[in-house]
Amino acid sequence: MIVDVAIPVRVANSFHYLIDESSARDLSMGSVVSVPFGSRTTYGFVVGFPEKAEVESSKLKNVLDVLVANPVFDEQMFKFLKWVSDYYCHPLGEVIATAIPKAFWTPRKKIAKEIKRSPEARAQNPLQIEYELNPFQKSAVESILELSETRPYLLHGVTGSGKTEVYLNVLESMIQKDKTGIILVPEIALTPQLTQRFSSRFPNQIAVLHSDLTPKERIQQWDLITSGTAKIVIGARSAVFAPLKNIGVIVVDEEHETSFKQEDSLRYNARDLAVVRAKLLGAKVILGSATPSVETYQNAISARYVHLKLPERVNKRAMPKTQFVDIKDKHQWYSQDISWLSRTLVDSLSKTLQQGQQAMLYLNRLGFAHFLFCSDCGHTWRCRNCDVSLTYYQNPPILKCHYCGEQKKVPHSCEVCQGIRLDTMGLGTEQVEKTLQSIFPKARICRMDRGVIKNKKDLERILNRIHEREVDFIIGTQMIAKGHDFPGIALVGVLLADASLNLPDFRANERTFQVVTQVSGRAGRADTPGEVIIQALNPGHPVLLAASHQDQEEFYRTELATRKLFQFPPFHRAVMLRFQHTNPQRVETFANQVVRIIQSELNRRFPKCQILGPTEAPISKVKKMYRWQCLVKTESVKEIQTLLKMLFDWEKLQKSNVKMAVDVDPINLL
Ligand code: ADP
Ligand code: ZN
Repeated sequence: MIVDVAIPVRVANSFHYLIDESSARDLSMGSVVSVPFGSRTTYGFVVGFPEKAEVESSKLKNVLDVLVANPVFDEQMFKFLKWVSDYYCHPLGEVIATAIPKAFWTPRKKIAKEIKRSPEARAQNPLQIEYELNPFQKSAVESILELSETRPYLLHGVTGSGKTEVYLNVLESMIQKDKTGIILVPEIALTPQLTQRFSSRFPNQIAVLHSDLTPKERIQQWDLITSGTAKIVIGARSAVFAPLKNIGVIVVDEEHETSFKQEDSLRYNARDLAVVRAKLLGAKVILGSATPSVETYQNAISARYVHLKLPERVNKRAMPKTQFVDIKDKHQWYSQDISWLSRTLVDSLSKTLQQGQQAMLYLNRLGFAHFLFCSDCGHTWRCRNCDVSLTYYQNPPILKCHYCGEQKKVPHSCEVCQGIRLDTMGLGTEQVEKTLQSIFPKARICRMDRGVIKNKKDLERILNRIHEREVDFIIGTQMIAKGHDFPGIALVGVLLADASLNLPDFRANERTFQVVTQVSGRAGRADTPGEVIIQALNPGHPVLLAASHQDQEEFYRTELATRKLFQFPPFHRAVMLRFQHTNPQRVETFANQVVRIIQSELNRRFPKCQILGPTEAPISKVKKMYRWQCLVKTESVKEIQTLLKMLFDWEKLQKSNVKMAVDVDPINLL
């Protein structure tokens, strides 16, 4: 008999092997077998029993062993995984291996009957208050539970509008109907509050999946799911593959977040896969956000998705009042040499402190300064492995690369001219902290960024201190923008609001709009009205105005028009081909060869596709690898996918040691 086996290797989808009839009787779709592959032995997943082999059967090799006869995925899951493999042009065996942890199916010692729950899933406070839903929430829940509606839902609710409460109610109703649900969150470590809200509402029914689990913890969570004990899975992007049975709803909270995209190996977007999986299962899917991605928004206004709105904060709490400060204007500066801080902001900080409330300051830059330079010869310190400058940290004094992690001591003199007048440029959170501490010596200040928060414990400690009002000012990077519900925050300051508008990325406007809106949304979540101060070089910028809730619709209208004009997503689909090698010439030559081949095929068969590049990536070297890329744009992803499949069969590609990665619907363009 012939079996079709998907092997986790980079080349093709599956391979045919022979197996004798008696062993074949144990096998089914989803069994795991060991097979010879080239000169080695590897494992693979049975994905079919073809009648006829592609080559003469005498040339086929034999299956060596049946590792797991019981299928590790069912028919439904297989359909989904196959879709993922086709869509992302990624070998089926690798897709299956990504979705189903090896530890789960590898034979293991009997585990204890009593399955330990992860600490997150243990209810800290089982007596959670159940609110009476307000009319907007109520009608959202009703609409989602409407049986005849099969489209995905965009739950578009301003910050603090009670989206989580909507998810909880939908889930409650699903559980009553004996269905299950998946909640995808961007970074689970950053949202312990959310997990707690779920586990107190659904005690003992939650499994939690995220990347920080040890293999053992992961198996425990998987056992909770496959045994049917867990009815709800909360997790980061990989939870979209959770093997729950009878799924009624998949929720993607903060659907606009880029961390739903996996940036290596299988480059999938869990938000998009949630929509696909729900469709295949006939389940509901809810994408929630205060600042939907432009793609999702377009789907909503074109009625492919149902657009549900929660336009008000709960309990009619006011949206924060926003004030703009033009930081170009010297008269606004706090002092002659502190140009990044306005008097307006300092005055508000001082008022907040006097009133015993808390303030939050946002700056998306780690460290003390962007870089160190020599004032005599202009030399700057750059990373040896990456095409970026080293970030200057003062405490402790080091220069550090944010791409490869390399760090070194801050030098006392210039390595080129031996000059000793070294200076720094640019602003980071360390410097903000130091300056504010000197302006407000009595204020209790804490920093929330990857410099000080290394793990979940650090984060929990800081979140607790904030909740217990042990800090007055919180200075942080994007980390502070993530859905936290801190009742004490009366003031939010955004330091260089337009810094991110100039990145070479077609999503620069969108990202800035999202982060400024989200940070602003941290203000005034309890009964004290909130205030937001946005400092910017161009305070009248439409993106910033939109972020201050003056006109969201206008932002999306303008942004969509621009995307259409320049043929960017969501109107055109994009696929990025990325090339990497330690030798800059090799990668350049190879990228050019590949693009030439694609180009000639395109001209012949796919006239709608368009190729930009190849070009050196904006960050041309990372971890000693030189990087080239090319962007293929089209109105039809199918065309590119057909094209790429042809490319994979191209012998040169298989033999070349230049790494080529395919990134369908890329997020990171740098
Ligand atoms: P969002 O996710 O939209 O930012 P949350 O769901 O976190 O908002 O809700 C904000 C706060 O309001 C939470 O503390 C939540 O417990 C509370 N809340 C939610 N719904 C209601 C309601 N109907 N009545 C009163 N409080 C509510
Ligand atoms: Zn580096």
